[in-house]
Amino acid sequence: MQEEDRLITTGFREEDEDAEQSLRPRTLAEYFGQDKLKKSLSVYMQAALARREPLDHILLYGPPGLGKTTLAGIIASEMGHNIRVTSGPAIERAGDLASILTNLNAGDVLFIDEIHRLSHTVEEVLYPAMEDYALDIMIGKGPSARSIRLDLPKFTLIGATTRKGMLTSPLRDRFGISFRLELYTPEQLAVIVKRSAKILKTECDDDGALEIASRSRGTPRIANRLIRRVRDFAEVRGDGRITVEVAQEALDMLEVDELGLDHTDRTMLNAMIFKFGGGPVGLDTLAASTGEDAATIEDVYEPYLLQLGFLMRTPRGRVCTRAAYEHMGVTPPPTSGQGGQVKMDL
Ligand code: ADP
Repeated sequence: MQEEDRLITTGFREEDEDAEQSLRPRTLAEYFGQDKLKKSLSVYMQAALARREPLDHILLYGPPGLGKTTLAGIIASEMGHNIRVTSGPAIERAGDLASILTNLNAGDVLFIDEIHRLSHTVEEVLYPAMEDYALDIMIGKGPSARSIRLDLPKFTLIGATTRKGMLTSPLRDRFGISFRLELYTPEQLAVIVKRSAKILKTECDDDGALEIASRSRGTPRIANRLIRRVRDFAEVRGDGRITVEVAQEALDMLEVDELGLDHTDRTMLNAMIFKFGGGPVGLDTLAASTGEDAATIEDVYEPYLLQLGFLMRTPRGRVCTRAAYEHMGVTPPPTSGQGGQVKMDL
């Protein structure tokens, strides 16, 4: 199955477009969870506002759907400035970036999603822009060519990436602030579900919200998608109210299990258990045997399976834990070690 076809993909689906706009929090107070990050961020923002200076450049990293784009918009509005949103693959040439940069106003936020996908030549333009708010332009060709420096408005770059490790170190070093977004707990997601239900004018009780939250893989984007599906179900099959029974029935029908795992996760865990004896198995081997893309496994499936304690990363590959066997209804092999770890013939 294509990653974007999955109901519980963390990536953006077309059906999310309108809903994401209406459900997106606009202020830091509405942005729930990520408490550590918000605490530091408030201090940085207050200090910058007091000094009447732009905020330092910020790198946001973590799995998709956790609120990086949302946070960038909130930062811009709390600082009282505009945001310009673009992405690494959309900036094809150095000239594209130069034109974006020269059109910014002082204090504006430039948000570059998937910043690890910027090309090398575009990145080179970004270095002086980030460091000195300057743009170096070459004029003429051959021996008479010379470089002139244009001043840029003092802006804040917010870069988002799912893979911090893929950023070049000169780029990484130019961010004064770097935040990792964490997967949300079911309790935190339940608050987000309740808020979304209110915006969608749907009645949703606490247990119903927690049921949806528990199956949303720690990801607000998925929680917001599942609540819309459950709402449809509640309207057609019931009186429109989302209760725990309605949520369970709807999500079971959609084949999202009680922990939010779907067919693809189960295929992956089954392959690890039955084909590779629980591991260790290398990422590429796992990708080849399940027909999934290695990068997708690493960015999308693994973070949640790791959080559940179903997988462990070891130097020799991925290992399935006892908890994963139990969830899949398979008896773990007797060689299972302590702490849920299975068979590591060291
Ligand atoms: P990312 O940029 O990390 O892929 P987004 O910022 O696009 O994720 O977030 C996806 C959706 O999830 C948003 O439209 C928003 O409705 C919701 N969302 C994300 N983070 C939060 C949060 N902390 N509180 C409430 N809703 C959130």
